[in-house]
Amino acid sequence: MERIVLVTGGSRGIGAATATLAAAHGWSVAVNYAASAGAAQQVVQAVEAAGRRAIAVQADVSDEQQVLRMFDEIDARLGRITDLVNNAGVVDVGARVEQMSGARLQRIFGINVIGSFLCAREAVKRMSTRHGGPGGAIVNVSSAASRLGSPNEYVDYAAAKGAIDVFTVGLAKEVAGDGIRVNAVRPGLIETEIHASGGNPDRVQRLAHQVPMQRGGSADEVAQAIVWLLSPQASYTTMSLVDVSGGR
Ligand code: NAP
Repeated sequence: MERIVLVTGGSRGIGAATATLAAAHGWSVAVNYAASAGAAQQVVQAVEAAGRRAIAVQADVSDEQQVLRMFDEIDARLGRITDLVNNAGVVDVGARVEQMSGARLQRIFGINVIGSFLCAREAVKRMSTRHGGPGGAIVNVSSAASRLGSPNEYVDYAAAKGAIDVFTVGLAKEVAGDGIRVNAVRPGLIETEIHASGGNPDRVQRLAHQVPMQRGGSADEVAQAIVWLLSPQASYTTMSLVDVSGGR
C-alpha cells in the first residue's frame, strides 16, 4: 500500500526536512504551505527526485474552509492520506503577557492549536478503521516551550504547545483502537527561520550555551524523530512526547 503523508508547513524548516526525509523512506507527500509557493515547489521537486509523488497545496491551517478544501484537493490529486504531520506553527515577537493583544492570541492559538485539531479531524476521518480506513499515524510538532513556559518571550506560544501535548495524549487514547497512533515531538532550539520571524535571527546562537549539548539542533535531526514515529518501526509507540532538544 502506498503511504501518503500530509506535512503541514512543509515548505520550510522542520516541515521541509520532514517531507524530504519521508520521501527517502518511501512516502508520497502533500506539502502544505501558507504563502511560500516557490519554497513548497522546491520540496515537491526534492520528493520527486527521490522517486515519490508529491503535490504542493496552499492553505492557512487555522481556516476551516481552507483545511476542508486542502483535504479535498489531496484526495483528488494525490489520494487518501495515510499519515499526518501537524507541523505548521508560528511565534510572534518577544513580549510579556500584559503586552499581548487579543489579535495576537487568536493568531497564535488559531494556527498552532486549532489548525492542528482541524487537520487531525480530517485525517482521522480518512485513516480510522471506524470509518473504513486502513489506520495510520499522526505526529504533532510541539515544543520544549511547553515544559519551559517561555517567560518574557512568548508564553502564548508555550501555552499553545502545552495544548498540543494534551491533545496528543487525548487523541492517542481516543483513536488507539481505530488503528491510529498519535505522538508528538518537542524540539528545542532548532536552526530555522522561525526565530527571525519572531525578530530574533540569532536566537539559537545566543541561547546555545543553555543547552546541555551546547548547540542548536538541525531541522533534519527533528525530522529523523518524526519519520521514525510515522514508521512501522514505531508500531507499539503511541501517546509519546519525544524531546529532541539536546537535553534542554
Ligand atoms: P519555520 O521555518 O518558520 O516554518 C514554518 C512553516 O509553517 C512554513 O512552511 C510556513 O509556511 C508554515 N506556516 C506558517 N503559518 C501557517 C499557516 N497558517 N498555515 C499553514 N502553514 C503555515 O518554522 P520551523 O522552525 O520549521 O517550525 C516548524 C514547527 O516546529 C512549528 O510548529 C514550531 O512551533 C515547531 N518548533 C520549532 C522550533 C525551532 O527552534 N525552530 C522549536 C520547537 C518547535 P510558509 O513557508 O508558506 O510561510
